Amino acid sequence: MNTPELLLHHQRLDQRARALTADIARLEARLARDPEAERLEAQLATTRAAREELAKRLRERERDVEDHRAHMKSREKQLMSGRINNPSELIALSQEVDHMKSAVAREEDAELTLMEEAEALDAELRRLEAALAEVLAGTAAAAPELRQRLEQERSELAAVEAERAETWEAIPADFRAAYSRIRLADPVAEVVNNQCQGCRVTVTSSGMQQLRRHLLVTCEHCGRILVMA
Ligand SMILES: [Zn+2]
Repeated sequence: MNTPELLLHHQRLDQRARALTADIARLEARLARDPEAERLEAQLATTRAAREELAKRLRERERDVEDHRAHMKSREKQLMSGRINNPSELIALSQEVDHMKSAVAREEDAELTLMEEAEALDAELRRLEAALAEVLAGTAAAAPELRQRLEQERSELAAVEAERAETWEAIPADFRAAYSRIRLADPVAEVVNNQCQGCRVTVTSSGMQQLRRHLLVTCEHCGRILVMA
């Protein structure tokens, strides 16, 4: 490899190292946490809390209905006892019992609605638990492969970094200085059909002559170091 080619090789190793580093970070993040499982766990916690709240309301409602029903029964017994002879008192008590009956019936309907809500929440809980179990099983099954890929990429990165350092050592100081000065992610561009591939601007004929002699040539337009493709 001539010097510009070495520089291009260095750039390619650098690109590979960047891609590997990003991929390693992604793999590490995937192994560390599972967003889908976290989402399901959060949903499960919310649904469980709602179910507990509903169970509490249901218990309170049951107790109230029980009390009102017992009260209603005792008033009804009084009504049927034959001990009340005063007609207006009898009418008033009869009306009271009727009101109590319809109130209890309304409360029982409300209780039934709560029970239906509880059943729906129970079904939702079972669905979420099954979905979470499936996601966790999938994650566990995928983990060995992810860890293997991570290991491979880590060792490839170490090899790429070693080769990059070795290549850098082989590059003359003037090329290195020029490379380090350029504030672009990829400071080297190939020249194809007299055109800089970094910016598509045509290289001057004197530039082309210098390139053929593997000298340090930078693009007059984008400033990248040029290398013959
Ligand atoms: Zn250019």
